[in-house]
Amino acid sequence: MEKYEAIIIGGGPAGLTAGLYTSRSGLKSLLVERGIVGGQIINATLVENYPGFPQGISGAELGSLMHQQAVKYGLEVVNAEVTGISQGKPYSISITEGDFEATAIIIAAGSEYRKLGISGEERLVGHGISYCATCDGFFFRDREVAIVGGGDTAITDALELTRHAKKVYVIHRRDQLRAGYILQQRALAEPKLEFIWTTVVEEILGEKLVRGLKLRNVKTGQSSILEVAGVFIAVGLMPNSRIFFDIVNLDDAGYIVTDEAMATSTPGIFAAGDIRKNSPHQIGAAVGDGVTAAISAFKYVQGE
Ligand code: NAP
Repeated sequence: MEKYEAIIIGGGPAGLTAGLYTSRSGLKSLLVERGIVGGQIINATLVENYPGFPQGISGAELGSLMHQQAVKYGLEVVNAEVTGISQGKPYSISITEGDFEATAIIIAAGSEYRKLGISGEERLVGHGISYCATCDGFFFRDREVAIVGGGDTAITDALELTRHAKKVYVIHRRDQLRAGYILQQRALAEPKLEFIWTTVVEEILGEKLVRGLKLRNVKTGQSSILEVAGVFIAVGLMPNSRIFFDIVNLDDAGYIVTDEAMATSTPGIFAAGDIRKNSPHQIGAAVGDGVTAAISAFKYVQGE
C-alpha cells in the first residue's frame, strides 16, 4: 500500500491550498479529486471578491492557477473517488484506484447543490432543469426561464441568465432576498428580471422537456402556473460528508465540526472549506481554512 504523510480529499480552493502548504513544507502529499480540479468555482464566470484580482478573474482560471501552483511544489493529484477511511493509525483510505496509507488526512470535499425534492425534478434534470446557470444558460437564448432561490447564487445566476434569456423570473419563498447588498441593487435595477415573492414551486411541469411550473403563494395560498422553458434551482448547498459520518463528528446539517485549528473530533483528521461547520462559503475563507488545516497536519505528522 502506497504511503503518504498527508492525503487531501477534494480539489477545490481549500484542498489545493492545503496541498500547496503540505507539499511545500516537505510532507509527501496526495490530493484526491473525483471531478474537475478547481471545484465549484470553475462554474463561476467572474470572481470579483477574491483579493489580488482587481479586475476579477474567471473561476476556471483561478482554479487552474491554484492547481499549477500546488503541483509545482510536489503535490500529487489523482482523479478518483474516496470510498472509505478506516479507523486506526496510520489511516487507510480506499479510493477507486486502490488503497493508500496516510498519517494525516485533510477533508476538503466541499458541498453539492441542494434539490427541491418536488415532482418533476428528477425526471427533467438536463431537460430544462439545471443547477448551473454558467453551464447551461446559453441553451435558453431568447426564451423565458425561472430561477428558484434568493441567495447570492440565485441572484448571481439570475443576472448571468439575463445575458441569454428574454426574461428571467426569480421565485423566492420570502419577500426579502438573502443575497448581499450589491447583488440585490444590481438585480432590482435589471429590467429583464421579474421577482415573484413569497412563492414556492410545487411541481415542475412537462413530460420530456420543462414547459412550466406550478406555483403557490405562501401568503395567500393561491396556486398558479408559470410557463417557462427552463428552471434553474439555486437553493443552497449540502456538504459532501456522507462517507465521513462514522469517522468524524458532524452537526445536524451534516457539516464537519472543527476547532479553530481545523482539527476534527478524530486526531490526525482535519477539515477545511465549505464542508466544515460555520464556513462562510467564500473562496478566501476556504483558502484560509486550507492554510490552517495544512499547518495543523504538519504539526501532527511531526508529532507536536
Ligand atoms: P444560500 O445562501 O443558503 O441561499 C439559499 C437560498 O435558497 C435562500 O434564499 C433560501 O431561502 C432558498 N431556499 C433554501 N431552501 C429552499 C427551498 N426548499 N425552497 C425554496 N427556496 C429555498 O445558498 P447560496 O446562494 O447557494 O450560497 C451559498 C453560500 O455561498 C453563501 O454563503 C453565499 O454567500 C456564498 N456565495 C457567495 C457568492 C459571492 O459572490 N460572494 C456567490 C455565490 C455564493 P431563505 O432566504 O428564505 O432561507
